[in-house]
Amino acid sequence: MRVISQVNLNFVNSCNNMPGLSLPEQNRRTAALNRRNRTFMEAHKVTHALEDYLKAIYQLSEESRPVIAARVAAETGVSPSTIFATLRRLAKEGYVTINRRKEIHLTGDGKKVAENIVRRHFLTERFLTDLLGLDWVKAHQEAHRLEHAISQEVEERLAKLLSNPTTCPHGNPIPGASKSPGPKTMPLSDATDGQKVELDFITEGGERDVRLLGYLQDHGLRPGAKVHILDVAPSLGMMTLKVGDDEFSLGIEAAKKIRVH
Ligand SMILES: [Zn+2]
Ligand SMILES: [Zn+2]
Repeated sequence: MRVISQVNLNFVNSCNNMPGLSLPEQNRRTAALNRRNRTFMEAHKVTHALEDYLKAIYQLSEESRPVIAARVAAETGVSPSTIFATLRRLAKEGYVTINRRKEIHLTGDGKKVAENIVRRHFLTERFLTDLLGLDWVKAHQEAHRLEHAISQEVEERLAKLLSNPTTCPHGNPIPGASKSPGPKTMPLSDATDGQKVELDFITEGGERDVRLLGYLQDHGLRPGAKVHILDVAPSLGMMTLKVGDDEFSLGIEAAKKIRVH
């Protein structure tokens, strides 16, 4: 019952998101914006598989290392021969460029398609956790299946229903949802002995690792958690952390998938 009334409240609140404008004017502007986005998406219908590749390239390019074919293959779990054929196709269709150093960059259109699918993924995760009460671990997997089936119209309604959230439940910023950039983050693996940090988000790479997400959940490593780094032992590939009274260790490889500031 509480969930239902919260939904209604969110819906009422989110209906008034253009202060100072009359309701017909708000509706006209929203409709014009949505029409433009729909026209773009209709002109750029790509297969689910290609959407996933563009999403992977988009997410890899958020990290500070260059995006090369081997990383995209590892991220999407396909063979090198498949990835080369796919990248050629994406380049031919104008979604990516590949330079002489074999670095892959999204074009404007590629970025737009990727942002759309990332936004749907994150909004779906929010819907699954906030309204359906699904846990953190399952939400990512379910959203990965559902994201391709969501139309522009459903996406817009979802955003409204959820009061235009700015992050996914794992803390990842939703593209286009927030105007102010968040704090400058670094991988948890870059933190040093004695440092105290705050957790910003678990990257999509981390979300895919079901055992890792479960472990993070058990130790309260969620967005906003205050983390004290007790010890970093690169030779062992481990770091010892403290959250509240809970002391535990985490692999440095896993810590690379967590962003803090
Ligand atoms: Zn996810
Ligand atoms: Zn997420």
